[in-house]
Amino acid sequence: MGKRRIAILGSTGSIGRQALDVISQHRDLFEVELLTANNSSDLLIRQAIEFDANNVVICNEDRYREVADALQPHYIKVFAGMKSVCDLVGSDNIDIVLTSMVGFSGLESTIAAVKAGKTIALANKETLVAAGQIVMDLAAEHRARILPVDSEHSAIFQCLMGSAGAEIEKIHLTASGGPFRKWSRKEISEATKAQALNHPNWNMGSKITIDSATMMNKGLEIIEARWLFGTPGEKINVVVHPESIIHSMVEYADGSVIAQMGHPDMREAIQFAFSYPERLPLNNRKLDFAALGQISFAAPDMEKFPALTLAYEALRKGGNMPCIMNAANEAAVAAFLQDRIGFYDITDTVRRCMEEVEYIARPDIESIFRTNDNAFASARTIIDKISR
Ligand code: MG
Repeated sequence: MGKRRIAILGSTGSIGRQALDVISQHRDLFEVELLTANNSSDLLIRQAIEFDANNVVICNEDRYREVADALQPHYIKVFAGMKSVCDLVGSDNIDIVLTSMVGFSGLESTIAAVKAGKTIALANKETLVAAGQIVMDLAAEHRARILPVDSEHSAIFQCLMGSAGAEIEKIHLTASGGPFRKWSRKEISEATKAQALNHPNWNMGSKITIDSATMMNKGLEIIEARWLFGTPGEKINVVVHPESIIHSMVEYADGSVIAQMGHPDMREAIQFAFSYPERLPLNNRKLDFAALGQISFAAPDMEKFPALTLAYEALRKGGNMPCIMNAANEAAVAAFLQDRIGFYDITDTVRRCMEEVEYIARPDIESIFRTNDNAFASARTIIDKISR
């Protein structure tokens, strides 16, 4: 395997930091070309120096001076703003772009990387939820390979290897069930931010951790799987698997089911996207099946977790509906994290936005950006009323 030059969009977040850990284990194979961050200037500076990045973008332009001054003695070029990310991501010096920004804000730079024909290590699932058809069409047109970094989708991708041409009968998307799996609906309705942020298995950023508590994360992943693997919603089955050992499964026409397993550790999926199709050693915890004893499965509770029904519905309606759902969810999760609304207000807000925001059956990219703005505005209006 030749040396691969990597851009990490969102290097100071949970996925970005774990990606740098992977790179630090294979310095001979991976090289950091570009790092970007929204606001975390201190960490960005430290990362850039440690990994000797060639270019750095701080999206918040107010922090440009601070980052530029700190990196100037190290001959690291510093830029500011999202436009710089979009300009730099197409550079000939980049082989792989890891998209690990949070939410819809990642769409613009992901599209820029796809248009430049880069290999995308996709960790920003909201990109495919909001604009799946558009992103996949552009990827085909510009021959950009999209490799999943979401653990479930990396698992599905691995379960499909060696089965070229075989039709997928079903995808079994596993879900930990989040921190409220055993809570009653009444208890969940009174859940606090601290309780929702306490995920049993995975260590992740706050947005995705709240999404896991509502199970909207699994809803987003259903839509992500539809675009990555071309599998219709009816063939994507969610199964609760609290131990998170099986990261997902593919069932074929003959009833054979292939599973991908490991301890919950995002670095596995990140590294595989970086090294694909090769496999490299990783200093993670290995499975000991005898010590594990047993693993368990259950159907998801659609009453307690309405986000799943909303996601299937958004996928069925298609068009800009998944974009509406995603934007409303981002706005509502932010409000929940600010203690402005209750736990079930998140999915209530999403449902109302899906009813109220203008539906477009065949959106182009401009209408996706407009839909995102409209859905955010509607969600804010709803949230303002609830939180008053
Ligand atoms: Mg996942």
